[in-house]
Amino acid sequence: MKTVLITGASRGIGRAAAKRFAKQGYNVAINYCKSKGAAESICDEIRQNGGRASIFCADVADNSRVQEMIEAVECEMGTIDVLINNAGIAPKQGLFTDFSENDVESVFATNIFGMMNCARAVIPKMVSKKSGKIINVSSIWGICGGSCEVLYSSAKAAVIGFTKSLAKELAPSGITVNAVAPGFIDTDMNSHLSEEDKKLFCEDIPLQRIGTAEEVAETLLFLASDSASYITGQVLTVDGGLI
Ligand code: NAD
Repeated sequence: MKTVLITGASRGIGRAAAKRFAKQGYNVAINYCKSKGAAESICDEIRQNGGRASIFCADVADNSRVQEMIEAVECEMGTIDVLINNAGIAPKQGLFTDFSENDVESVFATNIFGMMNCARAVIPKMVSKKSGKIINVSSIWGICGGSCEVLYSSAKAAVIGFTKSLAKELAPSGITVNAVAPGFIDTDMNSHLSEEDKKLFCEDIPLQRIGTAEEVAETLLFLASDSASYITGQVLTVDGGLI
């Protein structure tokens, strides 16, 4: 029985991934930061469907809380086979010069340092076992850059650099590290957009529609599977052909 830890799994892509991995037979460790009720509800849903899941609270940006969380997951569910670094925040769109130093720190704290904290905590046991999968959720903006999304794009680009370098460092230990770069996905992260804005955006997407959290979850499951055993250091875009 394999164990997956999914950060930011109380909603959106993380929630869809928790359900998909549970359906595949994984023990699912659901990380949440503030939304305990939502995390409990996805956990209950998985259990009612015969799956195995538990919830674990931690702000991924807080390294000591992450260490405690990993110990708690290992204690309850055994060593972590798959880490899905999904938790992320998207600041309001705006000109780079309108953001403060604190804004920069907060975006980087969650979107890249949080991923590093979680990876740092799971790697020693993965190295001992000579196996493991780390999958980081980046964004197409981390590949091509987005106007008025400079902080988010920069942090997501850092996720790609982190993924590629860590993949090379950990490959001799039998651990793969990959990234998924979603495009425009229908989650709360985009709930501030009007229906009109969404429609306009879809006109630029070759597949002519917004993606679903479930479609990203399928990609995460693939990268975690044995079917992806020879894939490492890659960034898989899930964007309907946008970039
Ligand atoms: P979402 O806002 O619905 O979910 C993000 C989750 O991360 C939430 O559950 C939130 O509570 C959690 N989170 C935020 N900060 C945290 C912290 N410090 N510690 C622990 N958990 C924290 O958004 P989503 O669309 O599901 O996003 C998931 C990932 O996908 C993010 O990394 C996001 O940047 C990325 N992404 C999303 C889109 C999109 O269009 N929705 C596109 C590209 C990339």
